[in-house]
Amino acid sequence: MVRSRFAPSPTGNLHIGGARTALFNYLYSKHHRGVFVLRIEDTDIERSRDEYVDDILGGLSWLGLDWDEGPYYQKDRTELYREHAERLLKEGLVYRCYCSAEVLEEKRKAALKEGGKPHYDRTCRDLPADDPSHEGKPYVLRFRTPLSGEVSFADLVRGKITFKCEELDDLILLRTDSSPTYNFTVVVDDALMGITHIVRGDDHINNTPRQIVIYEALKYPVPQFAHVPLIHGKDKARLSKRHGATSLLEYRNDGFLPEAVMNYLARLGWAHGDQEIFSREELIEKFDLPAVGKSPSIFDMEKLTWLNSHYLKTLPEDDIAKRLLPFLDEIGISAGYDARLVRIIVNLRERAKTLKEMAQMSEYFFRDDHAVDDAARAKFLTPATKPILTDFAEDLKGIASMDDEESLKARLEGLTKKYNAKPVAIIQPIRVALSGKTVSPGIFEVIAILGKECVERRLKDAIESIQ
Ligand code: GLU
Repeated sequence: MVRSRFAPSPTGNLHIGGARTALFNYLYSKHHRGVFVLRIEDTDIERSRDEYVDDILGGLSWLGLDWDEGPYYQKDRTELYREHAERLLKEGLVYRCYCSAEVLEEKRKAALKEGGKPHYDRTCRDLPADDPSHEGKPYVLRFRTPLSGEVSFADLVRGKITFKCEELDDLILLRTDSSPTYNFTVVVDDALMGITHIVRGDDHINNTPRQIVIYEALKYPVPQFAHVPLIHGKDKARLSKRHGATSLLEYRNDGFLPEAVMNYLARLGWAHGDQEIFSREELIEKFDLPAVGKSPSIFDMEKLTWLNSHYLKTLPEDDIAKRLLPFLDEIGISAGYDARLVRIIVNLRERAKTLKEMAQMSEYFFRDDHAVDDAARAKFLTPATKPILTDFAEDLKGIASMDDEESLKARLEGLTKKYNAKPVAIIQPIRVALSGKTVSPGIFEVIAILGKECVERRLKDAIESIQ
């Protein structure tokens, strides 16, 4: 049974890269009908924050990456780490190191100066375990890394990767205050949680051999690893604050749909032929690790926006309508879910790229004091168009329902003849009078949705505003 996990550190928000790692783990386990575990790696007390935990859980839930187990919190598990360290100490697989931070720092600097890679020089590795001269002194527990040989693993994305043991340091597993370090907790947890597959960013590749030797020392089975290339911005630099949103939830707040974001994230590094659109079910069916590419993926906002438009156009309209409500609320429009709202959606979803934009675009359907494009007003609400608007307002008196497209059409045609003008010359002033914009859904739809009273009022206001 496949058991995968997402193991974020709550030292920052859930960003695009983290969300993609979570998604790949989720898809991999679902594809294999396995279990997806969530573990919060909050051993760094200084930098971990509850608000980041909330952001991470919120982001995952928004995407629908529902975890089957957890969230486990490492800070609740310190006893387990200590027990494992004790066991390794008893077996002679870790040793006490009494070197002070200052001495280590001096040695590190000296090594750097000589152009070498700073390594712990293993001063304490062979001290007799019961040496009385160290009694009462603070110590860390270091892993007794094999001095020679190699560590290899078959990465599911990158193939076989080999490290020489000489390159690996004698890592600290427990600090002087007996708090555990990342490479240790991650092994203990992945082992105890029965994790079979670890999918993570390839910035962790160097940790993997260090973790493998700890698995071996603890006699736990070594899981399989898949290191996924990082995500870069268009400038080829690693994705960071400079490239935009730092929390996935900002995309939600900006009016992106989780369907679009999930689809987008899946394609960041993974491909299935040249298919671009995938539902969640399809992703689960088709996702597999060997199809993940080896080179960094580039974050492309245009593509995300394109996918968002696609889902805005194709998801059921009543669903979009319900999701639009909070965005309307945000701009002070307290609309309810009803047939009128659905009709507005049907008319706007071909144009709007996000729910936020759709809410803004729909403003004039809800209030008279909507935004007005000054250039549009200056161009189309003029002494020359005033008679057209006046005639049209007069014409409307004879039409009972604004849904009566035939009659409306006939009156507009009448006006084109009367003014010897093209339809657009008649329609644009009316459009601007009703919506404040030069671009809107079809004029008959706008008129029908606004309703007779509103159309009459806006025409009157527009006419009066023309000097
Ligand atoms: N807490 C680590 C991180 O956020 C997890 C790394 C891993 O997946 O092992 O980078």
